[in-house]
Amino acid sequence: MLPAYFDHNATTPLSGRVLEAMLPYFQESFGNASSRHAFGRAARKAVDDAREQVADAVGAHPSQVYFVSGGTEANNLLIKGAAARLRPSQVAVSAVEHPCVMKPALALRESGWKFRRFSVDNAGRLDMTDVQAALREPTGLASVMLANNETGVVQDVAAVAEMARGAGAVIHTDAVQAFGKVPVSFADLNVHAMTLSAHKIYGPKGIGALILDKRLDIMPQIIGGGHEKGLRAGTENVPAIVGFGAACSLAVSGLGQSSLQLQSLRERLDQGLHAMGAVLFGDGAARLPNTGYFAFPGIDGETLVMALDRAGFAVASGSACSSDSAEPSPVLLAMGVERELARCAVRISLGRENEMGQVERFLQVLQEEIFRLKRLVTVAPQGGSDPLRAMKPARAESYTV
Ligand code: PLP
Repeated sequence: MLPAYFDHNATTPLSGRVLEAMLPYFQESFGNASSRHAFGRAARKAVDDAREQVADAVGAHPSQVYFVSGGTEANNLLIKGAAARLRPSQVAVSAVEHPCVMKPALALRESGWKFRRFSVDNAGRLDMTDVQAALREPTGLASVMLANNETGVVQDVAAVAEMARGAGAVIHTDAVQAFGKVPVSFADLNVHAMTLSAHKIYGPKGIGALILDKRLDIMPQIIGGGHEKGLRAGTENVPAIVGFGAACSLAVSGLGQSSLQLQSLRERLDQGLHAMGAVLFGDGAARLPNTGYFAFPGIDGETLVMALDRAGFAVASGSACSSDSAEPSPVLLAMGVERELARCAVRISLGRENEMGQVERFLQVLQEEIFRLKRLVTVAPQGGSDPLRAMKPARAESYTV
């Protein structure tokens, strides 16, 4: 049987239609979009069309779309670039941000900024009272993700934007995980800036966009030629930009259908997990239709991920794989989850090619693996090394959740 891929929040397969749209721009239409001749003009038109597709997909104007190399770069550009144009005050971000928001925000302390986290409750929802309290301090910049990559919990960004604007702060949202899974409108969210990434929506890797309120002054972080109106220098990656545009259009046109299908798969998954006695994170909160995050107390998350991999299921553990130490997920710790339980976390993120049969088979296999691993735990010698930890593979070097 073919392995089942349940890790769509890490990345998605490239859609066949997206690939088809991209192919001509590798060879026949290979021009540099800045060149004046016909080859260049064809590339420029392709970039302009894609800009329109991205803008249409999120209710923005094409002139507000800046292409960058992905979500990480968009978040860095916004945080560093907006801060550089402001007098240092407070930068406030939610306690569950992706490291590519958290780290640049933390780094602003080196240039005199005060760093503040907005806390979340046990289900991973933003604590609005804390947001209000934090914004009483003079705040230049705030960032709250629309949906969390681990829990799938969706935040009320429009409410935060209203408070942040009232406090005179620039407000940004990382919509990388929400986009393509729930409707996303730049205008309705009322933010100054929003981050998107193509490879989470069946588009190519290495391309994304920062959507900006035109009145916002941002200092470019990569300078050189005047690409992207001077905000991001570097010859445009035309095939990737075309693929991103196509993926955006497909994401919006297929949204209703795919979210209904994902929701029914996830509901069956949740039901099966509950029946097996799993702890479900983010339970009860508004969540993305495709994401489930759970733990079996005493069963190490990475060990379970590797066991499931051997059984043909690609899922993710909740650990931040950024060092050699098995650090539990900072997202779960921010939600008040005990370190030991956080180490047991496993994430399932479904996609549009998944089917109910795969979920049913997964639940069966999971039950067998849990039974087997629990027996291993109970036969561990007293005071001896943990057999589950000993089975763990060498760790990856980068953050994938
Ligand atoms: N923001 C969130 C919430 C993410 O989940 C990710 C990727 O996992 C990123 C940003 C980074 O995006 P990219 O992989 O395009 O750099």
